[in-house]
Amino acid sequence: MFEKLFTKLEELQPELVRFRRDLHMYPELSFCEENTPKKIAGFLREIGLEVKTNVGGRGVVAVLRGGQPGKTVALRADFDALPIQDEKDVVYKSRVPGVMHACGHDIHSAALLGVAKILSEEKEKITGNVVFIHQFAEEKLPGGAKSMIKDGCLDDVDVIYGAHVMSNLPIGQVGVREGYAMAAYDKFEIDIFGKGGHAGMPQLGIDPVVTGSQLVNNLQQIVARRVDPMKPAVITVGSINSGQVYNVIPDTAKITGTARTIDEDTRRLVEEAIGQMTKAACEGAGASFHYAYTRGYPALWNHSKEAKRLEELAKKIVAPDDVKQVPMVMGSEDFAYYVQEVPGTFFVVGGKNPEIDAVYPHHHPKFDVDERSMYLIGKLFISAVLEYLSESTITPEKIY
Ligand code: MN
Repeated sequence: MFEKLFTKLEELQPELVRFRRDLHMYPELSFCEENTPKKIAGFLREIGLEVKTNVGGRGVVAVLRGGQPGKTVALRADFDALPIQDEKDVVYKSRVPGVMHACGHDIHSAALLGVAKILSEEKEKITGNVVFIHQFAEEKLPGGAKSMIKDGCLDDVDVIYGAHVMSNLPIGQVGVREGYAMAAYDKFEIDIFGKGGHAGMPQLGIDPVVTGSQLVNNLQQIVARRVDPMKPAVITVGSINSGQVYNVIPDTAKITGTARTIDEDTRRLVEEAIGQMTKAACEGAGASFHYAYTRGYPALWNHSKEAKRLEELAKKIVAPDDVKQVPMVMGSEDFAYYVQEVPGTFFVVGGKNPEIDAVYPHHHPKFDVDERSMYLIGKLFISAVLEYLSESTITPEKIY
């Protein structure tokens, strides 16, 4: 394996930890990233790569051209944070009130920079190219991936790999999955227009609170009674807003929620069924309505060949028992867009460590992960790149 490069990566520890902790202390929200892409671009320029900024908005893309022409491998890390107040008690706690790296994207970014540095030093020996995609706004629809792809970040790319650190997977473990791994992520908004009035004279009004409450319950029937039980689907109403005071029937109610599905037929069915339920509840009550269903990220599908490659590589880097088949989850990732365009796979790396209290779920105010997860992500990225490129060159002579 690539032991020499792995050792070099681990020697970067002080630099990568410093970079990660700086991002952690100064997190920036999706679509508001100003300094994060600047810091990343600065690092990439310093190591001598061709760097493009403002890709598709706020993305940063760097290209490493190897000594010999060949195929092109892309690696992707996201860099946005979340609107959560950091409640950890660590020196690198967020300095920005109400904003926090509560999903580990700071880890992904630092890991990818480490890989860029190590591979840059080996540039002359590499047959082919490596594209480093530092993506903005993964946490918020419509996400940064789609516009970065539109702006050309995948042009000439043959394969792509992406990783996520997981606080529920022990440090040192790797999770892989072939085929569908994460759900499509859509959003719905329902406005109910009733007729406000005196709480004591309901016959003179049209009560959107009653209609809305009924609708929230009815929506639960879609997954239970309409969707094929063998097909995963989730409908969650995340907000209901109506009224201000206890003794007035309000004019309107607003319901918002998210739908998660895997296959396209179920996705269409859910979109249609929410509309039907809304129409039925509102018409039955004499209310009018507005229904909007917005498609977000597609379901994430890992290409078999690349998922297997990653699994085999991981088994050489960690103990085979530490490479886990992870279950499909109904969370979402806009990495899904990249693998709609080119072959590739997304994988997860453990960051859980009770000794340092890195045990909280993602998006929790005390979320943290073991920083050593950066090196494992880095090693897997380095191996995937070199393995793919050496396999695809005409003389498959291994250079390491
Ligand atoms: Mn994330």
